[in-house]
Amino acid sequence: MLQTGPFPAVAIRDVTLNYFTPERETLALSNVSLDVAKGEFVAIVGSSGCGKSTLLTLVSGLLTPSRGSIQVDGIEVKAPSPRVGYMFQKDTLLDWRSIIDNVLLGAELLGLDRRRARQRAEELLKRYGLGEFMHSLPSQLSGGMRQRAALARTLCCEPELLLLDEPFSALDYQTRLALSDEIAAILSAEGKTVVLVTHDIGEAISMADRVIVMSRRPGRIKSEHKIAFPSFGAKRPTPFEARKCAEFPQYFQTIWDELDLHEVH
Ligand code: ADP
Ligand code: MG
Repeated sequence: MLQTGPFPAVAIRDVTLNYFTPERETLALSNVSLDVAKGEFVAIVGSSGCGKSTLLTLVSGLLTPSRGSIQVDGIEVKAPSPRVGYMFQKDTLLDWRSIIDNVLLGAELLGLDRRRARQRAEELLKRYGLGEFMHSLPSQLSGGMRQRAALARTLCCEPELLLLDEPFSALDYQTRLALSDEIAAILSAEGKTVVLVTHDIGEAISMADRVIVMSRRPGRIKSEHKIAFPSFGAKRPTPFEARKCAEFPQYFQTIWDELDLHEVH
């Protein structure tokens, strides 16, 4: 649900980022500006190397822009904050800790109340169908289950803003479809603001309220597309249902054409 407030959840203003290595300087992002409203689900698509992960890392506070500014809830981002949850392509679960201890990791690092965090972690794991696996090790879980555990870990600290960097791309197609349905349901029930980065156009269209297309490096915002499925009625379709809606192929074609995928590197 979109909420209006004094500030957007995320305000990215004229952000430029240069990476410096001993060999070269890479202009990864050039003059990127983007607002995300509270409760909005925005997907960013672009070809590999266009700066999608760089943009999320900047919003997370792990990296500082070379020029421009980023605000989360009206406050300049200077360092990582517990109000922002960040989930990567690789689940980054620690192999030697049980699932519940992995989910509690963030809460531990932030020094949150242990009993409360544990209660919430157990609730989340049960809700995501992992109740029986709380005491298992990550190696005993399938890829989809591990990603759900990673999501539980991210949500355990109750962030208001979620940054998802290709969270499904390591999974097989079926698991990916099922998981994107589950995750969309979880996130809309929790009313979170989400920025999802993906190179999968179908995933972006089926999950997001708005799709942002980035150009090749240096990454710039090329266009944006508000997504709506009036043929489905007033209710929002699940990602799986969205893929079957009459509007879906048109969005897909438009965004595909903008991605310049036919251009050779
Ligand atoms: P994407 O996530 O869209 O694939 P990235 O944000 O990872 O793109 O990378 C954008 C560009 O910046 C690429 O050319 C990449 O090689 C370069 N890059 C990314 N991280 C670093 C880094 N830590 N040091 C130097 N160059 C980097
Ligand atoms: Mg990336």
